[in-house]
Amino acid sequence: MRLGDSAGRTDAGRVRRRNEDSFVLDPPLFAVADGMGGAQAGEVASRLAAAAFREYHAADRLEPAERVEAIIQEANRRIFERARTDSEASGMGTTVTAAILTNGRVSIGHVGDSRAYRVRNGELEQLTEDHSLVADLMRSGRLTPEEADAHPQRSVITRALGTDAEVDVDMVTVDVEPGDLFLLCSDGLTTMVPEEDILRILQEADTLDAAARTLVRAANSGGGEDNITVVLFRVQGDEAIEETLVAAPPADAAEEPNELEDTLTDLPPVAKVEPPVQEPRPRRRRSHWGRRILWGALGLAFVALILGGALFGLSRAYFVGADEEGNVTVYQGVPFDFSDGVGLYRERYVSRLQAAQLSPEERAELFDHQLVSYDRAVGRVAAYEAEAVP
Ligand code: CA
Repeated sequence: MRLGDSAGRTDAGRVRRRNEDSFVLDPPLFAVADGMGGAQAGEVASRLAAAAFREYHAADRLEPAERVEAIIQEANRRIFERARTDSEASGMGTTVTAAILTNGRVSIGHVGDSRAYRVRNGELEQLTEDHSLVADLMRSGRLTPEEADAHPQRSVITRALGTDAEVDVDMVTVDVEPGDLFLLCSDGLTTMVPEEDILRILQEADTLDAAARTLVRAANSGGGEDNITVVLFRVQGDEAIEETLVAAPPADAAEEPNELEDTLTDLPPVAKVEPPVQEPRPRRRRSHWGRRILWGALGLAFVALILGGALFGLSRAYFVGADEEGNVTVYQGVPFDFSDGVGLYRERYVSRLQAAQLSPEERAELFDHQLVSYDRAVGRVAAYEAEAVP
């Protein structure tokens, strides 16, 4: 068995001005990194991670899994050192999900919420567990997958490169079979495209390049709220017809998408939605108009009372969470999003403290979403700031 073709693509999406993702397509080594931090720090962090994969040859002689882990540790050291010495880069970090294919195995190293998937026998299998707040809450049974998708803190990660001198890397090694297809991606894909659509696109595309382009397009059609990065590689049997290996792109792999190529690929067919069947309405019982008006008036008064109380309560309710960049934030309102992305809360105070700088216990304590006064909420954050922010 050997490596077949491979492809990678990154795109800023439709909302963010900058692309803080990077990827590495250096067969048999592949990686995706999703940076975070103010100004340009997120880009710096993910590019430092990608550079470590290209440059850190001290790890070349190690066994595959050790090699991936050693490179990730080296990337962490570089980012941590830069964040420590450059005030503009303070608080930056990045996810990384990296894979190497050798000797009939794929070894994956992983930190954060970028993911690795394998497609085999028509099934998409997630090989990594997200290091994120909502994944923690789901594992402990406090959130359903549907609630997690709509959760305002869904992009907050609990482990990142660059926040500590040492990082805990999750390692997974899986066997491979001819035809296996591997996908590494940032959360800009998985938060915008349901897994069944990802699988369908991977199965229907003629080439991995086309699959990568179509995945990026699907994420943009779904809202494109975050940077989108995908890396794909396939395993071939030795007897398979020789195919040209896609050459690794030049050193700076994170490049702008080719608009022309984009327009040349057709959109995947959209699943048909059946119109709801119109049931014949059951005949209404007659009722006395007077009684209905009385009940209507009482109902309206009741609703007004509830709404008034809720609004009064909301104006005084604050909770602690984290924003899209991972900064600990005090919000006014209640911690829920409607499915259209409209939340019942707004930012009132954004700390320089990153959620990833806290321990799991500290995060559980601080992000309990308890509704408190503004002073109390800011006070809770300040207690952690004093310890963590120099
Ligand atoms: Ca992201």
